[in-house]
Amino acid sequence: MTDKHWEAAFEVVDRLRDAGHEAVIVGGAVRDRLMGLPAHDVDVATAALPEEVKAIFPKTADVGIAHGTVMVLDPAPTVEVTTYRTEGTYTDHRRPDHVEYVTSLREDLRRRDFTMNAIAIRGDGSLYDPFGGEEDIRLGIIRAVGNPDERFGEDALRMLRAVRFAAKTGFQIEPETKMAISRHAVSIRHVSVERIKMEMDKIWTSGRAGLAAQVMAETGLAGHLPLMDRAFSGTNLGIWEKFGKPSQPVEGWALLYHMAGLQDGNPFKLSNAEKRSVRDILTSCEIRSERSYSPMDAYRLPEPALIAGSRIAHLTGKSGMPDEPQMISSLIRELPITSLRELAITGNDLIAWSGKKGGPWVKKWLSNIEEEVVTGYLKNTREDIKGWFLDGIESEG
Ligand code: ATP
Ligand code: MG
Repeated sequence: MTDKHWEAAFEVVDRLRDAGHEAVIVGGAVRDRLMGLPAHDVDVATAALPEEVKAIFPKTADVGIAHGTVMVLDPAPTVEVTTYRTEGTYTDHRRPDHVEYVTSLREDLRRRDFTMNAIAIRGDGSLYDPFGGEEDIRLGIIRAVGNPDERFGEDALRMLRAVRFAAKTGFQIEPETKMAISRHAVSIRHVSVERIKMEMDKIWTSGRAGLAAQVMAETGLAGHLPLMDRAFSGTNLGIWEKFGKPSQPVEGWALLYHMAGLQDGNPFKLSNAEKRSVRDILTSCEIRSERSYSPMDAYRLPEPALIAGSRIAHLTGKSGMPDEPQMISSLIRELPITSLRELAITGNDLIAWSGKKGGPWVKKWLSNIEEEVVTGYLKNTREDIKGWFLDGIESEG
């Protein structure tokens, strides 16, 4: 938490109250503060309608206006101000797309998913906590607000959010809540893959992916999500247990793909950049399962992929070799060049030296030279490269 986020949020609350509107701080930031964790954004809820909020703060943006959220840009950093609301009727276990504004804070908190996410802080710093969220945080319990069967029936994503919060905090999912997840597991199929992916991204980097995999297998959630039935069962569970806390979510996707043997397809709609990262990790993993990385591997593949690939090869036991991330760093440090641009010559030099017309041969020779330099057989100087090139092209005829 940067205190600036909290200061800005309290200032927004004060200004709303000065204008005669009830306002509080709510959501994840309150939970994280009670747990002594840093918060990334501090959200405000208010009885004021979006138009009234916009009239009080001169600088706002309408980012979430359809859900009653006005983004207040001044004071900075930005604060999201959402009008107290309930969610309308739910069809198909998905988030409703229309909302109803209410005047009661209790009503607003009642539609939230878990008791620890349904606590408000007033402008004077006191808590409004009608569902016992603070106590549940103290006990380390994730408990649905109200009747868990109803809550998961309304929005099936909440089941995966429960798993995500368990993974993030190490808290227990309260037994009634957990049993309700088992009963409703099949309805996770109705949730959009985009929302599922966002939760899984947070699970992969939570540091407790093993716990999440265990709970998802136990409750049956895994059986209704692509790839996870296989990846979250048997000996694989022990591998997730050792997965630790990767620096980026793509490592989780790579291990999942690896376990499920996914060859092609994109069931979780990863972005192109994520797909490329996963592919690089799996390529690295495949190499590392058989041998140590070569300088050419270190040159071609990004460092994070080499490190993650080695880790996964080691975790899945295909590599008899130890996982030595510091070896990877020194391999990279010792590379004579890190990209084609660092080569002491260009294609134009090759054309001038050979007296031949340009053509596809230039690219082929550049890549030969690149490989010779990377692997250390050829020094990266104009003289050395010129000599080696002229010898070669002559013998080629
Ligand atoms: P994070 O730390 O990941 O941001 P968060 O608890 O702030 O976690 P958000 O998705 O940012 O989660 O949502 C903010 C708040 O809105 C939650 O704390 C919760 O009160 C409520 N909320 C979010 N999603 C749901 C949902 N699917 N059902 C009910 N309440 C929800
Ligand atoms: Mg949040």
